[in-house]
Amino acid sequence: MDIEFDKLKRLQDVDSEINSISSLLEAIPAGLEAIDQQIKAASDVVSHAKEKLSVNQKKRRDLEGQVKDNKAQIAKFKRQLNDIKTNKEYTSLLKEIEESQQKVDKVEEEILNEMIAADEIEKEIKAAHQKRAEEELRLKKEKEVISQNQKELEGKKQILVKERESLIPQIPSDQLRLYLRISKKMNGVGMSPVTDDFCSLCQMRIRPQLLNELVEKKKIILCEACGRILNWQKPRDEEEEEEKADNPNKVDDSTA
Ligand SMILES: [Zn+2]
Repeated sequence: MDIEFDKLKRLQDVDSEINSISSLLEAIPAGLEAIDQQIKAASDVVSHAKEKLSVNQKKRRDLEGQVKDNKAQIAKFKRQLNDIKTNKEYTSLLKEIEESQQKVDKVEEEILNEMIAADEIEKEIKAAHQKRAEEELRLKKEKEVISQNQKELEGKKQILVKERESLIPQIPSDQLRLYLRISKKMNGVGMSPVTDDFCSLCQMRIRPQLLNELVEKKKIILCEACGRILNWQKPRDEEEEEEKADNPNKVDDSTA
């Protein structure tokens, strides 16, 4: 029985291509997930800035409460001044009023600082909003490119799977089984091209006797080192020479 080297080689090419497309497709969900994480990170910056603003607002409310309390205290002290009998008590109460007023001044300064900080935080929120909008737009486009790429890859894969289905019945079953068995063991690559005198995948030199048999293509020969099906392929320039010999009228484009 003839060995279907050409069909086995095509099957190998189809399988290799299906494998590489499958790896690309498998990586897509993680890629999309990473993009979603980037969008989330941009949103988190906005939330964080908003959180800072609400902390700032709460602090301002607390400080304003303190001012109010101190002012009420001062008003109370001032009313008490009218009922004071001695100079000593009067001086002491004035001192209390002065201390309360100092507290009010100090807290009002703090409020002012918090208001300045609030302005900065508002700017921060605005910038974070804008950055998020830009990121969302950019990442949405990135996702569209990935989805488009995914569709193309799935289309290509479908065509290859169909070709594989039609190829398989054309290969004698013992040859097919051998290829599939080696391929499974060798990470999807069961055939190794030979264009010189070594296995191109493991670089093992091929004995001259085996090389002759390989060129004859009468039987399957496995690489003595890696165990793959060796497939003799004529070196490219030799192939072109033969093509010219077969078609003497063919015009060589390069010299035309
Ligand atoms: Zn080998």
